[in-house]
Amino acid sequence: WFIAMEGGDGAGKSTQLAAVADWLRGRGYEVVTTREPGATPLGSVLRNLVLHAEEHKLGARAEALLFAADRADHMETVVRPALERGAVVLTDRHVDSSVAYQSGGRGLPADEVAALSAFATEGVLPDLVVLLDLDPAVARARREERTGQADKLEAEAGPFHERVRAAFLARAKADPARYLVLNADQAPRILTGAIQDRLDQLLP
Ligand code: C5P
Repeated sequence: WFIAMEGGDGAGKSTQLAAVADWLRGRGYEVVTTREPGATPLGSVLRNLVLHAEEHKLGARAEALLFAADRADHMETVVRPALERGAVVLTDRHVDSSVAYQSGGRGLPADEVAALSAFATEGVLPDLVVLLDLDPAVARARREERTGQADKLEAEAGPFHERVRAAFLARAKADPARYLVLNADQAPRILTGAIQDRLDQLLP
């Protein structure tokens, strides 16, 4: 089973991923937790490039190709082998992040970004996408609380994060059976419970 945790920065993806992984392990599943970008040796080089996109003067298309290269390597060396031996793979971000950020955020055509990802994954999609949906202003306040400093650049990027959020929601709306959309402005244990309920229905 292949499950993706998605949402904007500060939505609580890593907290939920860790909680759900613990719960699944407790029920006897082999669980592989991973993330994009940056889960492999090549991926950590690519992550460093895309996280400094401005410094490297990366255009939107070059950036999209680097995320796709990371995904191809991640699928080939981590995700596919784990799925083939029967593990549950939980990834922090996958194709939905590409469509949300590279299309919603940076303006590339959504169908082209999705096609690029399909090339990278040979068409493999998560069986379930948990979308932690959060107002970007609330997410920003959370990040500021966590880091103790005002997030000035991010404050200026408000409309970018609004577009990212809208693109995530549009993906979920187009294929509702494969998504669990949760209002992430709730206590972590409530969110974990909702994810557990859905996985109880999905997993054998
Ligand atoms: O979630 P994580 O901190 O690993 O993501 C790093 C950053 O990369 C995110 O803040 C997001 O802005 C960006 N990103 C992106 N396109 C993706 C995945 C992540 O722009 N496909």
